[in-house]
Amino acid sequence: MSSDGSSNGSSNGSPTLTLDGKVVPFETGETLYEVARRHTSDVPTLCYDERLEAFGACRLCVVEIEGFRSPVASCTTHAAHGMNVQTKTEKLEKHRKTLMELVCSENPRGVEIDPMRGHASQEMTDLAQRYAVDGTRFEGAQSGQSHPDDPNPMILRDYDHCISCYRCVRVCAEQEGDYAISIANRGFQTQITTEFNGFLKGSECTFCGQCVQTCPTGALADNRALQHTREPGEVELTRSICPFCGVGCSVDIMSKGDKLVGVRPAMDGPANEGALCVKGQFGWEWVQHPERLKNPMVRKDGVLVEASWDEALDRAAEGFRRVRDTHGRHAIYGVASGRAPHESAFSVQKFIRAGFGTNQIDNCSRA
Ligand code: SF4
Ligand code: SF4
Repeated sequence: MSSDGSSNGSSNGSPTLTLDGKVVPFETGETLYEVARRHTSDVPTLCYDERLEAFGACRLCVVEIEGFRSPVASCTTHAAHGMNVQTKTEKLEKHRKTLMELVCSENPRGVEIDPMRGHASQEMTDLAQRYAVDGTRFEGAQSGQSHPDDPNPMILRDYDHCISCYRCVRVCAEQEGDYAISIANRGFQTQITTEFNGFLKGSECTFCGQCVQTCPTGALADNRALQHTREPGEVELTRSICPFCGVGCSVDIMSKGDKLVGVRPAMDGPANEGALCVKGQFGWEWVQHPERLKNPMVRKDGVLVEASWDEALDRAAEGFRRVRDTHGRHAIYGVASGRAPHESAFSVQKFIRAGFGTNQIDNCSRA
């Protein structure tokens, strides 16, 4: 093994190591956590997000390596040919249990977190259950002061639950490039904050929601989805594509019964890999807006009044024909809404192109 822990390669060119007694191959440059996750998927972590640079903050992913005096964080240790690695010994599990007790002591309101808070919000709760711990053993001082008064309607900043994993700060910097939030102070004074400790709206924040979705404790939460917590029924996820622009981000639509209650980015979405913008993440309430038109309207004597579909379609057809017959087919221009379903957008372009013989059709999804 070289001094930086990189692999020298085995005789057939494919490096291997021994993981919990089993010889497994790995790719040069992989960390022990990546190798372990692929083969056992049972190494716990709270500060890891595969989209981000490994950080090694929570120390839950520690493993033992033969010949090493102390356990090492597997997320920041590169795999090397010939290593003999143990991921689940009695000593490691005891260490992890104590760490989880410390983590849980950061949550004065307990570790029961509403799953509506965000994609990763259950990670701490799940690990607390796995190690059968709560925060009582190390009760006392806690870092992170909540900002319940931040007036933005989208992101709840409930830092009482913060465990200083910095996933939010890192995703904002590494994935979004916004650097809207950062870390102030150290120890029990540690605080996730904006510049000058102001509100999110006055910061560089674009309300993409990535910090919400990566937070493993629910300290950052989807305030829009939380408004629907009390509604009856289980949350169902339906995979779809955001219609707002041409990127085509994959989303998981959250619903209870026939009601839409939130949107989450699809972490395996090929176009977005867990990212969304403010429109895709939080701009869905119009779907059920009480003032949304439910019937067609036509103008009579200058006033818009409700009409039947037959009447509305006849009026529209009459208008299209009049324009085409008077000014020619290129006087027709169709604009489809980014708030309409994809199938409707397709139908509109077909209607304009095939029906009138013009390519004058547009949609905000083109931008
Ligand atoms: S707010 Fe959440 S993601 Fe950010 S440091 Fe705290 S626990 Fe981690
Ligand atoms: S919503 Fe997006 S831009 Fe705003 S703080 Fe979170 S990650 Fe950064």
